[in-house]
Amino acid sequence: MSSKDFYSTLGVSKNSSDDEIKKSYKKLAFKYHPDRNKGDKKSEEKFKEINEAYQILGDSEKRSQYDAYGSSAFEGAGAGGFPGGGFPGGGFAGGGIDIEDLMNDFLGGGRGRGRRSSRERSPKGRDLKYDLHLEFEQAVKGAQMNVQIRKAKSYKTCNACAGSGEVNYSQGFFSVSRGCDSCGGIGAFPQETEHKTVKVKVPPGVDNGTQLRIRNEGDIGVGSGPNGDLYVNISVKDHPLFQREDENLICEVPISIPNAVIGGSIDIPTLEGKSELKIPPGIQPGQIMRLKGKGIKDLRSSRIGDLYVKLNIVIPKTTSSKQKKIMQDFQKEIDKEASNPFSDYINKVKDFFS
Ligand SMILES: [Zn+2]
Repeated sequence: MSSKDFYSTLGVSKNSSDDEIKKSYKKLAFKYHPDRNKGDKKSEEKFKEINEAYQILGDSEKRSQYDAYGSSAFEGAGAGGFPGGGFPGGGFAGGGIDIEDLMNDFLGGGRGRGRRSSRERSPKGRDLKYDLHLEFEQAVKGAQMNVQIRKAKSYKTCNACAGSGEVNYSQGFFSVSRGCDSCGGIGAFPQETEHKTVKVKVPPGVDNGTQLRIRNEGDIGVGSGPNGDLYVNISVKDHPLFQREDENLICEVPISIPNAVIGGSIDIPTLEGKSELKIPPGIQPGQIMRLKGKGIKDLRSSRIGDLYVKLNIVIPKTTSSKQKKIMQDFQKEIDKEASNPFSDYINKVKDFFS
């Protein structure tokens, strides 16, 4: 008697129920399916063995024959025979094992954009996309926008798949079905379309790349299927004064030499308008001051960012004779001062040359 142990091939016992055998078979078929193991000879062989075993154990009549006589009962039996090597075409009882079916069993469905479900229920209408360009302030503060879309309102059946959304093709010894490329798995093409203005509420804090989903505003559903959705992709124009980094704002502000040296007060722009900024004495080039809570409201957390003011000291390219005189006097004062700001540097140079 040939000693093929179909029970161990399927990882079940002789006492296992039909249901347990089926479950175990599906699990293994999914694991070793050629679609998931491209070019892996071992998996391919294993997949064949699993199917060979299930062809017998999945059929109650054949299973009892096998229990009585072993696998030799089936060898050389013509169609349906499966000795050792090849798989005779057509003898494959379980045929048409679709990887997506198996996946749906194990992963809870939802793969392949709902194509598989097209036979059981009417498909959802197509989702639409819209690129919305916003002014900086609109993105930061939120806005009510009107967008013009064109959406399908009726359908004609797809000829390529006869409305099923799927096409069958044979791959090796079994037949596989996949979503129809012509209609994208929907089984139909839009026949009539309509123009519609959709109101889009843009929440404060959106940024480049934010996607808003407006439910039901895509193409109408096929048959009794639900409508598609409208996806609005946001892009935001640059601002002449502000740069954005997440919820923080950066603004470069010029200040004069006297303000940098002795401090002062300057006007700066904020999102709420002009604001006065007090500057302490001794500002260094490029120094940044932080204004808490003057940034952007974060879209999700509602945290409000800060405004970073970068102070650029502006050096005049020309001077009046009076300014020149003042600067010369200023230089003289620096030179004789005990706390010369260059003393550290002067000492290092001295050490270097000594
Ligand atoms: Zn089609």
